[in-house]
Amino acid sequence: MALIVEKYGGTSVGSVERIRKIARRVQASWQEGNRMVVVVSAMSGETNRLLGLAGEISPRPSAREVDTLVSTGEQVTIALMSLALHELGVPARSYAGFQVPIKTDSIHGKARIEDISGERVMADLEAGKVVVIAGFQGIDSENAITTLGRGGTDTTAVAMAAALKADECRIFTDVDGVYTADPRIVENARRIDYLTFEEMLELSGAGARVMQIRAVEFASKYDVAFRVLSSFEDGVGTLISCEDSSMERPLISGITSVDNEAKVTIRGVPDRPGIAYSILNPVSEAHINVDMIVQNVGTDSLTDLTFTINQDDLERTLALLEPVVRELDAETVVGDSSLAKISVVGVGMRSHAGIATTMFRALSEKGINIQIISTSEIKISVTIDREYLELAVRALHNAFELHVAAGIE
Ligand code: ASP
Ligand code: MG
Repeated sequence: MALIVEKYGGTSVGSVERIRKIARRVQASWQEGNRMVVVVSAMSGETNRLLGLAGEISPRPSAREVDTLVSTGEQVTIALMSLALHELGVPARSYAGFQVPIKTDSIHGKARIEDISGERVMADLEAGKVVVIAGFQGIDSENAITTLGRGGTDTTAVAMAAALKADECRIFTDVDGVYTADPRIVENARRIDYLTFEEMLELSGAGARVMQIRAVEFASKYDVAFRVLSSFEDGVGTLISCEDSSMERPLISGITSVDNEAKVTIRGVPDRPGIAYSILNPVSEAHINVDMIVQNVGTDSLTDLTFTINQDDLERTLALLEPVVRELDAETVVGDSSLAKISVVGVGMRSHAGIATTMFRALSEKGINIQIISTSEIKISVTIDREYLELAVRALHNAFELHVAAGIE
């Protein structure tokens, strides 16, 4: 008998029929004698609909009230899921975040979980009940409802699995696992059987949209192994866990891309201490996320600094930097929003040389110009002209032969 936490995302609970289907699946696991915790998202489209309503009333709605509003999406689903289980003769009980309780800080819209008391849920599980928990929400020290950021149900599931010391954590979604590349771009992309937390973190950070990145951080911090599975098809999905050195690992696990980055370049910056700080501090003060940063070696006491941000932040960033450029006596600041970032990720990179060379050769053979290169221990990212995104991803998938499962000898 195992304690299993299962998460079902918006599409998996997108209609009454789908909710019934999931309830039957949960019933089957429960009948096998497992203790079942089900964490659900709002029905697909619901969170956006609610945000839209707030936007119709107020151009800058209060973050506290927005959280109170959007958290209702998940509250609908827990009740419907519990009712569907009752109809199947399964004793089930719904829990909103505050009923667990899932305690968070007070940063509305992207609150962090601080503490979970598992006793009440545990007592229901011991009594043979299935527990259905609202994802994405919690309560702060002032008793205000908070939410954990878009896609936050993943984090709720992983956090509940950690708090309850679950034997298994299953993330059901609309894809049957994590792929070597986006199957819409690469026809022969393959489902990956196994990834380390680190690889999953880098893949999620570099554009794989399978899971909320915070959920992966949480899983890694508390060592919660989890499986990403399809709620529509049977299969083993992708297991994400701590690195096991006895495991055969491929050199490269996957390739991801993002097409919504923009680049900002400040040219002709006097090369002296404090420059990077003067330029990037106002950007971070404005809560604009900076991704890649490159500074050139100075020539003639002048240097260039380039960084990338989300393209939605481009106008704001340029406006912020105009006065800074004047103050620093730099030449100019220019923006470019036509780029794509392609990343290859794999723990095998640590022990094998030549990965970057293979990557650059594949891109050069297709005549694709690389603009910025940045690396971490297990990831190499490049930015290129957005026009070549698909070509680049396909070329790299081929170059690393990701269509065939391979291990390091
Ligand atoms: N309903 C929330 C959202 O759409 C949380 C989630 O789905 O995980 O972001
Ligand atoms: Mg969602």
